[in-house]
Amino acid sequence: MPNQLFIAGQWRDAEGGATFEVENPATGETLATVADASVADGKAALDAAVAVQDDWARTAPRDRGEILRRAFEIITDRTDELAEQMTAEMGKPISESKTEIAYGAEFFRWFAEEAVRISGRYSVAPNGATRLLTLKQPVGPCLMITPWNFPLAMGTRKIGPAVAAGCTMVIKPASLTPLTMLSLGEIMAEAGLPAGVLNIVTTKSTGKVMEPLIRDPRLRKLTFTGSTEVGRSLIEQSAEQVLRVSMELGGNAPFLVFEDADLDKAVEGAMLAKMRNLGEACTAANRFIVHESLAEEFASRFAAKMAEAPVGPLVEAKQRDKVAELVDDAKEQGAKVLTGGEVPEGAGYFYPPTVLTHVPQQARMWQEEIFGPVAPVFTFTDDDEALRMANDTEFGLVAYAFTESYSRAIKVYEGLHTGMVGINQGVVSNPSAPFGGMKSSGFGREGGDEGIEEYLETKYVGLAL
Ligand code: NAP
Repeated sequence: MPNQLFIAGQWRDAEGGATFEVENPATGETLATVADASVADGKAALDAAVAVQDDWARTAPRDRGEILRRAFEIITDRTDELAEQMTAEMGKPISESKTEIAYGAEFFRWFAEEAVRISGRYSVAPNGATRLLTLKQPVGPCLMITPWNFPLAMGTRKIGPAVAAGCTMVIKPASLTPLTMLSLGEIMAEAGLPAGVLNIVTTKSTGKVMEPLIRDPRLRKLTFTGSTEVGRSLIEQSAEQVLRVSMELGGNAPFLVFEDADLDKAVEGAMLAKMRNLGEACTAANRFIVHESLAEEFASRFAAKMAEAPVGPLVEAKQRDKVAELVDDAKEQGAKVLTGGEVPEGAGYFYPPTVLTHVPQQARMWQEEIFGPVAPVFTFTDDDEALRMANDTEFGLVAYAFTESYSRAIKVYEGLHTGMVGINQGVVSNPSAPFGGMKSSGFGREGGDEGIEEYLETKYVGLAL
């Protein structure tokens, strides 16, 4: 299992041999020790990316695509071992890890196919005197910072388009879950990615090591997935070099159930929207907003399913305590617990699937991302109120709506202030679709045709006759 820094195609220790420990959240025990990069190590990684950028940009798109395709095959072949490693460092059940691996690998297959479709335009200027040529070129060296909740997929959806576009990169995985990314580095080398194109820096001194890279004039793009709080400060730092920036930040997804919804579909969708990744997903439904005529039945059927759902540990004690605190706050304000709602005894950072009703909108979980297996149910009386409630948040990543009415669905998806909407479905993530948010959920899109554009510059050439 690789545990060193990956720089210029070499595995090496951090300066002075510094290391930090990675914990298994199911037991609280140390799982591995990995290199703890210094500022100089971070700079060495950027040096390596900058050194090969021009050569890499000149490679044939088909060759770049083939590397991604091979990496897709290797990841798929190694699903079992990667899933074990991911579960050990992150805590989600093995079945969830396998789902993530299939999803994460698919970004490589998708962008392998996009690499050969980068193109431009040729047109005649309106006055007929010149010709206008438009071409796409790689943005240049990128810095990628990823969170712990999807240790593979949050990386592949940045690495895939960057490789396809011809960009080099430094990637920094979350220090809670660095092992999957290190394994991915090994896979990329095996798939034939030239030395220096992808460099991996693991560190506990995150802000200190990242900031000089963001302020380095050789860096051309910053792409970040994580909390809105950290994202805001990185946007400020990136202003200095006027970097291209993509931000995939927090969410507070509403899950709307209208009076004409098919309740079977709604309960099944609710399970997916809430329990994927044990609720530790930016796309997790955070507020269940249900028509008053259905609320009781929906909540009791949903609670029955939640009570049977597999339980896993949350990523760390801090995360588990935050979830418990939000539930206690709702309970103090009158919420009724249908299932779960208490921290269990024993080792590990477990929290049970929980459904709450009678939650007032003053409860903290109305505005704050829960990031755990907790579902508060709220009620509404008419469609305008439902939309107002759904949009009453600083976030705008995703929303889910269940209705059997075609025209209601159109009005709802047009009225929601979110980058993504699931109609009668509880999962929207799809490598062939543009993933991303509005408002404090960030900007930029990952996946789909749009995903590669984030890594390309448009250049126009005027040709005189
Ligand atoms: P986080 O604390 O913001 O951390 C995310 C990444 O940023 C980690 O690699 C972290 O490194 C790094 N980081 C922390 N402080 C930094 C700094 N000062 N400078 C540079 N990098 C810094 O978020 P998290 O708790 O890991 O992840 C959960 C959040 O991510 C949630 O809000 C969730 O909604 C969001 N998320 C969004 C999406 C999306 O696509 N919109 C997807 C997944 C998650 P360390 O680990 O070393 O601290």
